[in-house]
Amino acid sequence: MASRPPHFAVVGAGPAGCYAVQQLLLRSPDATIDVYEQRAHPYGLLELGVAPDHPGTKAVRRQFERALASPRVSVHLNAPVSRAGLQQLRERTSGVVLAAGAAAERVHPVAQAVGERAVTGSDVAAWANGVTTPTLGRWRTGSHVVVIGSGNVALDVARILGAQATGTALPGLAASAAPLGPIVGVHLVSRADAAHGPFSPSQLRELTDYGLVLASRTSDGSAPALEGDARARCETVAALPVAPTAHVAPLSLHLSTVVRRDPADPTSVVLVGPDGTSVVPDASVVSAIGFTNEPGPHDREHTARVLAELPPGPASVVRVGWARSGGRGNLATARRDGVAAAVDLTAAAHAACQPASSSPSELVLAGRQPAHPQPSDDAFRED
Ligand SMILES: Cc1cc2nc3c(=O)[nH]c(=O)nc-3n(C[C@H](O)[C@H](O)[C@H](O)COP(=O)(O)OP(=O)(O)OC[C@H]3O[C@@H](n4cnc5c(N)ncnc54)[C@H](O)[C@@H]3O)c2cc1C
Repeated sequence: MASRPPHFAVVGAGPAGCYAVQQLLLRSPDATIDVYEQRAHPYGLLELGVAPDHPGTKAVRRQFERALASPRVSVHLNAPVSRAGLQQLRERTSGVVLAAGAAAERVHPVAQAVGERAVTGSDVAAWANGVTTPTLGRWRTGSHVVVIGSGNVALDVARILGAQATGTALPGLAASAAPLGPIVGVHLVSRADAAHGPFSPSQLRELTDYGLVLASRTSDGSAPALEGDARARCETVAALPVAPTAHVAPLSLHLSTVVRRDPADPTSVVLVGPDGTSVVPDASVVSAIGFTNEPGPHDREHTARVLAELPPGPASVVRVGWARSGGRGNLATARRDGVAAAVDLTAAAHAACQPASSSPSELVLAGRQPAHPQPSDDAFRED
């Protein structure tokens, strides 16, 4: 008796879901795939996160468009999958790829404390991409913005806001991005020093187009024994000009510095760094310290966390991308996850069609993750 071709479901049409679709099409030539996306548009953070002045990164969208246009793929937009819906998909398909992104963005305590004077890094990135989130719509920008974090998202935000502060056009900035209010100074604050920060030298160099200066030479991290990335970061930092006077530069980098509330003034923020304490007046805050799959008060709009807690069920659920890592990794790791998921789900679907004597794939043990070594790329883990 001929077996039925496999049928897979992919929950989330961000980069990880799209890579999984692409790989399932490739590795399972007779399979059909239903893709469920809660938003009205696919591509997730490729559209809403990745900075508009990085068109080369965004170009992967063309690959995704081709995959989703396959006659073997049905895309359902405005189709959020609930916990009950996921259970149904497990019962009715050969396997499910859970690609719903990270559950929550981490929010720095100072940002939590200052309320409407704070937004997150992804709010600013979405704004630059033409989507004003409710939080950003309520944002009370001060004349100074303190960006907390120094990973990829923080540096994207510093570039976007640095362009505003210097009156420079940011290439690709969405025409629909409404003005933010006058910003005279952007302070990029990293608790790490140059040797240990998560930023790359090339990311720092991009910021020099917007007048980046170093707030203090004391913390440039230069040490004679450093090698590799740490040494390259220190050399790049050492080449930056130093701010002539605190708080006058449009874009400044504060290393080895922590952010505190100003107990005397809710509109100010205190920076505690190697040269002591300074107060940034009329400050608003951008918290760009990474993402998580841990439960918390700041869940993003979707339901990855709930979906990730499913009990064992009838078919495999494989988590990919940020739904697996909680915000670690980038497009390259999303692709690797997509490959691993497609290999395992295809093998499991094939094994399910074999006589009972054949040994089941480990993925038939529902809810298990693939045994492939998973990438440990920390690119989007902030310090
Ligand atoms: C500001 C910023 C800049 C970045 N810049 C870069 C960069 O330059 N280079 C790089 O490589 N990476 C970059 N990244 C990281 C990259 O965006 C992520 O690695 C990638 O988007 C993760 O893909 P994902 O599919 O796992 O998650 P997401 O992109 O979050 O996609 C998840 C999708 O699932 C949907 N969804 C969620 N819940 C449900 C549900 N219940 N039902 C149906 N659909 C659901 C969401 O709407 C979304 O479309 C950046 C990230 C940010 C935030």
